[in-house]
Order: sequence, then structure tokens, then C-alpha cells
Amino acid sequence: MRCPFCQHEDTQVLDTRVSEEGDSVRRRRRCVACDKRFTTYERVELAMPVVVKKNGSRTEFDPKKLQGSLQLALRKRPVSAEAVDAAIHRIEQQLLSSGKREVVSEQIGELVMNELQKLDKIAYIRFASVYKSFEDVAEFQDAIAEIGRERKGGKPRS
Ligand SMILES: [Zn+2]
Repeated sequence: MRCPFCQHEDTQVLDTRVSEEGDSVRRRRRCVACDKRFTTYERVELAMPVVVKKNGSRTEFDPKKLQGSLQLALRKRPVSAEAVDAAIHRIEQQLLSSGKREVVSEQIGELVMNELQKLDKIAYIRFASVYKSFEDVAEFQDAIAEIGRERKGGKPRS
């Protein structure tokens, strides 16, 4: 790595740290010529797949939209912001690591439902009812019944 101050080509690595998420490496370097110090970051570059909507149109993946729908589903639910952020991060990681160039919007919906199911059952139902529109009544009943089964032996309904 070339020194940004004197352009000398040889720099010494003083310290290497991997980020908490494990997706980037930070290196503290020292120029052997001018002794100035600087930091470099190294990260894997993966592109988010393009989202294909139900009508076939394509749109860029929007993390704000993802965050918005999760927050809407989780409104007034006892789930910490950290847990929501972690869920969003996992969804993004799954999309990135799929290596696909395109993803259908339903697939993102499924990923969101997976996360909500783990985070909060009420939020899961809220999201699922909007996302699937529950045109099929039986489908809705199945979802409710599933939650009922999971609740048995657990906390009483509030
Ligand atoms: Zn230098």
C-alpha cells in the first residue's frame, strides 16, 4: 500500500482488526519513509441483487424500505432496535451471499417473515397479513393455528 503522504511504496502494518460483523478488516499502517500513520479498510465487495416486482418491473434494493416494513410490523412490540438491526443485517447478508443478480420481491418477503417469526409472533402475523393479503382464508387460519400451537405451554395470551 502506497503512502498517501509521500507516495513511498513500502508501508508497515502496525495493527490488524476484523470488524465485529467479520466483513471488513481495518489496518493501521506506518510509512517506513516519512513515518506518518494512516488506516486502510478492506472489505468484500458484493452487489445487492436487483429486485423484480410482481408486475415484472425491476427496482434497486432499498434498505430503507426493508427497515420501514419491519418497523411497521414491529410497531409497539417489545423488540429492541438492536434486534431489528441484526435481523435486517441477516436479510441483507442472505441476499448478498446468494450471489444472484436478481431476486423476486416475494423472496425478500419470505426472508422478512423468517426473521419476524423469530423476533415476534404478533409482528409476524401483521406482516404476513399484509404481505400475503390473506386472500386465502384457510392460509390465514393456518398461520393463526400455528401460533396457537406454539403458544401452548408458553406464556398466556395478553
Ligand atoms: Zn510516507
